[in-house]
Amino acid sequence: MQCDRCKEEVDQNEVFKTQDMNLCEDCYLDMMARPKTCDPWAVFQAKQTAGQNPSLTQQQQDLLDFIRENWPVTEEQICKQLNMDSDEFRTNFSILRHMELARGCKVNEKVCFAPFNAEVEEE
Ligand SMILES: [Zn+2]
Repeated sequence: MQCDRCKEEVDQNEVFKTQDMNLCEDCYLDMMARPKTCDPWAVFQAKQTAGQNPSLTQQQQDLLDFIRENWPVTEEQICKQLNMDSDEFRTNFSILRHMELARGCKVNEKVCFAPFNAEVEEE
């Protein structure tokens, strides 16, 4: 089977199905972590400061701390714990991801979030 987004060949049992697409894991996680409302300026800033002294907002710092202390965590856990809605989470997470501070992963068929360099046992 082919990923509908990047056109890579994907194993039948590694395909992630969304409403209208079959995706490979990378594309699926990428879509999951994408904010519905795109914020190009925030992403631009994130890229500018990545690698230097990253300047995070309080919300991003809280999110990063929570992920670092509790990974792997799901979006629901994060939203509940940090009192964020899904859009806020995705916007902030995408910044952390661009800065290579956090990433998405799949644990027991669930999409979870972990520090960028964490060695998560993915299944
Ligand atoms: Zn793909």
